[in-house]
Amino acid sequence: MGKQSSEYFQEAKKLFPGGVNSPVRAFKAVGGQPLFIESGSGSRLRDVDGNTYIDYVLSWGPLVLGHAVDSVQSAVREAVNLGSSFGAPSPRELALGQELQRRLPFLEKMRFVNSGTEATMSAIRLARAVTGRENIIKFEGCYHGHSDSFLIGAGSGVASLGLADSAGLPAALIPETLVLPYNDSEAVKAIFQHHASEIAGVIVEAVAGNMGLIPADRAFLETIALLCEEHSSLFIVDEVMTGFRAAYGGACELYQLQPDLVCLGKVIGGGFPVAAFGGKACYMDQIAPLGPVYQAGTLSGNPIAMAAGLATLLGLGVNAFAEMEARTTRLCQGIQGLAKKYQLPVQVQWRGSMFSLFFADKPVQNFKDAQSANYEQFANFHQLLLTKGIYWAPSQYESNFLSLAHTDRDIEQTLQVIEEVFRKIGGRVWES
Ligand SMILES: *Cc1c(COP(=O)(O)O)cnc(C)c1O
Repeated sequence: MGKQSSEYFQEAKKLFPGGVNSPVRAFKAVGGQPLFIESGSGSRLRDVDGNTYIDYVLSWGPLVLGHAVDSVQSAVREAVNLGSSFGAPSPRELALGQELQRRLPFLEKMRFVNSGTEATMSAIRLARAVTGRENIIKFEGCYHGHSDSFLIGAGSGVASLGLADSAGLPAALIPETLVLPYNDSEAVKAIFQHHASEIAGVIVEAVAGNMGLIPADRAFLETIALLCEEHSSLFIVDEVMTGFRAAYGGACELYQLQPDLVCLGKVIGGGFPVAAFGGKACYMDQIAPLGPVYQAGTLSGNPIAMAAGLATLLGLGVNAFAEMEARTTRLCQGIQGLAKKYQLPVQVQWRGSMFSLFFADKPVQNFKDAQSANYEQFANFHQLLLTKGIYWAPSQYESNFLSLAHTDRDIEQTLQVIEEVFRKIGGRVWES
């Protein structure tokens, strides 16, 4: 931890709770202190002390092309020259909306919002409105933003801080969120058997990225889709992280899902605050001003953010996903090989350009498995990587990401560092 970062952090703690404006940034889960970042370029981050890092956090997912990419920077400059916000419709909303629809055909209608939290919050309001039911099913360890209904059984930053849920939730709301284990089809069947008439919708990360990276079993997702259809509950796929990440058309493409509603965010804003929810027109037409479900935003559809999002999606050419996936696979298989060599019980899990690592001796399939991984060893691993110039997500409950800017050289360099780290910690993992 450099001197400048340290000084900024001391100042920041006087100003912001924990010194940060979003909790995982504080590095609390890995026992370190956050770096203050000066700039990013391609696959690299540079901190205020002048150290550079290969970045696998990428602003927690959005920067699928890498940092400060020319096409995005110039689209933003062009947009900003015309003004920053109009509070009125602009053609840029159409351009991004049409591009999203082209990639996700089931997105008949959509609305832009400013964060994933707003997208999921609005999607369940809509589900409750169109079904006239109140209960929402979610899965343990899935994170859907920080609105009240979703801070129950949430993963990610909530899990890192060891909070079962959050303080400050109205007690009356808690029973309306039903939390089931991820990848457990039987649990879904059982709850529909007894409560179908109360279930407004089921929301799921089709590839979970907020308890580390945990892919769903196909049968699990098919069970949810089928039961939702049978009982007229809305099937909502939260693709805020997986959209344009797990595959070109997100996890829905990977698993060939046709959800009633989908939530998008992160990549679609290209580093700016953009998210969206959408899906079947018959539901979306219930949103104000057409219908009775209120939803609004002063800066929604912001023209600069729309320009960044569009330039980002247009930067994902036909080979982009195959390329990123091949490099991700190379990195992850490389790590697996090294773990074997140094006799470390390590699970590396990945889909598309998303990946994570657990110190565990069997594949991690749900939140309980993730919780039983060796967290101290992860913290150790994280700190050692950081000192050697690799910026890895500072919690085992977070996914890492690759961008199109990451090169084969980056992968090689990362594997070299991981080999040094594994050599250092190998053989003493289970002693701690
Ligand atoms: C990041 C994330 C959210 C929340 O998005 P914000 O923009 O941080 O509010 C919701 N759902 C999933 C799956 C996410 O990964």
